[in-house]
Amino acid sequence: MENEGRSRLAVGATAIAILVGLYGAGHLLGRATGPAAEPNPASAATGAPGAAAPALPAADPPAAAAAPAVPPVPAPVPPAGVPALPVSVQQPFTGPGKPPLPMTGSGPHGTLRTTGQPFVALTFDDGPDPRWTPEVLELLRTYGVKATFCVVGELVSAYPDLVRQIGADGHTICNHSWGHDVGLGSRPRAAIRADLHRTNVAIQAAAPGARVSYYRQPGGAWTRRVVEVAEELGMSSLHWAVDPQDWSQPGARQIADAVTADTGAGEIVLLHDGGGQRNGTVRALDRFLPELAGRLRVDALPPGVDPPRYHGRELPLKPSQI
Ligand SMILES: [Zn+2]
Repeated sequence: MENEGRSRLAVGATAIAILVGLYGAGHLLGRATGPAAEPNPASAATGAPGAAAPALPAADPPAAAAAPAVPPVPAPVPPAGVPALPVSVQQPFTGPGKPPLPMTGSGPHGTLRTTGQPFVALTFDDGPDPRWTPEVLELLRTYGVKATFCVVGELVSAYPDLVRQIGADGHTICNHSWGHDVGLGSRPRAAIRADLHRTNVAIQAAAPGARVSYYRQPGGAWTRRVVEVAEELGMSSLHWAVDPQDWSQPGARQIADAVTADTGAGEIVLLHDGGGQRNGTVRALDRFLPELAGRLRVDALPPGVDPPRYHGRELPLKPSQI
C-alpha cells in the first residue's frame, strides 16, 4: 500500500521535476527517493536543449555568478537499478529514542529468538575480555556493523574501559549476570534480583548513560522465575536462533560456515568474545561479516529509552534504571 502510494508520488515528482528542470532547477527536486527519482536531472537537461542553457544563470542565486565556469553539483541520486528499500528497512531499527524489543518471544519461557524485524542481531557473550573484545570491536568497526554485547558483571567491574568502549562504538549492552551463574534461574527470587541489579549498576558505572534493556541467562538455562525478575528490572530476556557453537572452538571456517548457512532475516546469533580462547570467533567474523552484512541488515538491538517503554506503553522506572 505504502509502496504504491510512494510510486504514484514519485511519478508525480518526476513530472514536476521535468517541468521545473526546463527552467534549469531540476536539481532542486533530484533528492526525491526511489528509482523514479533517478532520471530527473539527466532527462530534464537532455530533453530540453534550447531551454537549459539560458535558464542556468537565471535560476542560480547571484552569489553563484562568482564561479560561472563551475556547473552546479547535481543532487545525489540512487544508482540506476537499485530498488527502493521497504519502508520497514528505511526506518532506523536502533539508536537513541528507540524502545527495546518486546518482552516476550518464541524462545524458552517466552524469551526472544528473533528481533521481529528484518534486522539480524549479532550478540557476543561472556566478555568483556581484554584479549578478544578489542579485536571484535575493531572488526565490527572495519565492517561498519553494530552488535550487542552480553557482559558478565564481575568482568565489567574488572574492565570498565572496555564496556565504555563498547558503548562509545554504538553497540548495545546486555546483562549476562554477575558471575556467569548457570544455575541462577533456580535460586531464590531475591538472589536473582540482587545479581541482575548488581550487574546493571556495574554496567552503568562503567558506561554512564548506558541503558540495560536485555538479559541473557548464562548457559541459556532459562527459568520462568529468572525471566520474570528480568522483566521486573525492565529487561527483555534474550535467547537466540542461531548458535554456531563457537564456544566449543570448532575453528573459524566452521563457525563462519554455520553463521552464513543458518542466519536468516531477523534472527539473533549467539557468539562469544570472552570465556575462553576466541581466536576462531575473531577470524570467523572476518570471514562471514562481509557476506552477512551484504545479504542482510545487521544491527545492534535497540537500546531502550528512559523511562522504559514497550510497545508505546509507559512503565514505571525500575530500580536498575537510573
Ligand atoms: Zn555465557
